[in-house]
Amino acid sequence: MVRSLEAFDDAIPRRGWVGAPSPVTALPRLAADLGLAHLAIKRDDLCDALFGGTKVRKLDYVLAAPPFAEAKAWVGSGGIGSGNMVALVAAGSALGREVHAHLFWTPVSAGILDNLAFTASGAASLTFHPSRAAIGLRQTSLMLSSSPFVGGHPAVPPGTSMPLGLVGLVRAALELRAQIDAGELEAPSRIYVPLGSGGLAAGLSVGLAYAGVDAQVVAVAVVERFISTRMRLRSLQRGLATLLEARGLGPVPPPVPLVVARDQVGRGYGVVTAESLAACELLAAEGLALDPVYVGKAMAGLLADAGRMRGGSVLLWQTARRAPLPHDEGWRGKLPKALARRIEDPAGADASRRRALFAVGAVVGASVLGARFLGGYPARPSFQGGVLSVREAHVLEAAAEAMLPAPVSAEAVASVPERVDRYLTGMSAGTQREVRAMLLLIEHGTTPLGGRLRRFTSLSAGERSAFLDGLGARGGLLSQAYQGLRDLVMVGYYQQPSTWGALGYGGPQVPLGYDPHGPERREWPTYDAMRAPVGARPKGAQR
Ligand SMILES: *Cc1c(COP(=O)(O)O)cnc(C)c1O
Repeated sequence: MVRSLEAFDDAIPRRGWVGAPSPVTALPRLAADLGLAHLAIKRDDLCDALFGGTKVRKLDYVLAAPPFAEAKAWVGSGGIGSGNMVALVAAGSALGREVHAHLFWTPVSAGILDNLAFTASGAASLTFHPSRAAIGLRQTSLMLSSSPFVGGHPAVPPGTSMPLGLVGLVRAALELRAQIDAGELEAPSRIYVPLGSGGLAAGLSVGLAYAGVDAQVVAVAVVERFISTRMRLRSLQRGLATLLEARGLGPVPPPVPLVVARDQVGRGYGVVTAESLAACELLAAEGLALDPVYVGKAMAGLLADAGRMRGGSVLLWQTARRAPLPHDEGWRGKLPKALARRIEDPAGADASRRRALFAVGAVVGASVLGARFLGGYPARPSFQGGVLSVREAHVLEAAAEAMLPAPVSAEAVASVPERVDRYLTGMSAGTQREVRAMLLLIEHGTTPLGGRLRRFTSLSAGERSAFLDGLGARGGLLSQAYQGLRDLVMVGYYQQPSTWGALGYGGPQVPLGYDPHGPERREWPTYDAMRAPVGARPKGAQR
């Protein structure tokens, strides 16, 4: 096994953008405040090339190899403020290549606009997509690493999370090992990183084992769960190990433990949380600037755990580029019109995300309207749907069976459609239409799009489960539908009184179906105390 940085550097070609080790800054005062033995921060923001940041470590390898090395232009995709697009555009300027950027909408913040201004200033073309799912639909090959050409140019996958890119993280782990050996930092027992497309966490977990650093990686998710599944992390780890072994750098030991923390994501990718802002302020007091949507959330995860790791030695990886980024004065003029309008009026975003989902459903719906796809569902005599059809009830039940954690009773699974139907009764017609389009999309996602011959409800429970995991993991086409389906299944399942105990919920204060004026009327002291007297009006109500 190669354990020295020098030997490793001779084995796989790279651009050489990562030179001297990024510095490690110790934070003894903060460590003492948090009750930690050691706390340090690995400063990838100070990596020299391309404004720094951990993405440069991935591009260092990817852009040195075919098909990227010789191509005149590259294609990339990401959120409008993607750090990956910034690094790719900077690489394009450094090497004289055009970059074609496909951007999807995310909430706007100052950091996002800085990145977008830089990307817009430097990219050869910008294409705007209303959502991540819409990119998947229009440019499927952007989301799949198996067919990396878009319009004749090689495409870097989201986050540059492909096995060759992850080699940069193995190199980073070897670099850290050398710094530990040189006494620049105490060997960490936990290393906190943000979890986006997963390459950083997966690559580091393999790299640390490879470098013989006995630490745990704590990956704090900054994206929704469907993009960052365990399955995706495992497949990235495997892809990297296979590549290293194929290059004669094996054997590769099993990765160090990789823990995923999901409680800092807040409302989703690109959305700041109070906890991340507080974490940023804490480090600002130490003279360190963190961004609130990646590293701020990772630091918030570290703070949340600090009480429980008494005396531990902890490292936070500063993965973001450094400020400031240059941009052209007229960058806004280069934005596609739809994106420019959206930036002026961000409130339109939600409505458009819904429209995008509905459009995906409509496209799939139109392509499967052949009768043989629509017939052949068993009757469901007990189901009296107000919103959902019998077919849609079958899809929900099949999904519930595949998604709910064992053990669940068949009865509980069977009652999910009824409960979801009742839940949907109170929703707007638009929402009901979307949900039905989504169910259609899932049912037939296994046929024309998923490359399978049978529809979702006729797969075995195991196949359904694998299909759904695959949807979530792919991060593209059907991921949004997957997320919506999961939420609905949970809504249906957790309405069941038998599940309440597990949630610590004691049930309503009066029995379900209770009639306050009926013959069953009894005293319910806590409930009665909350009821307004007959004839009372809310404060400030107009007559
Ligand atoms: C991309 C990015 C990450 C996450 O890396 P992934 O490999 O996408 O999980 C973390 N921090 C910053 C600042 C990034 O831009």
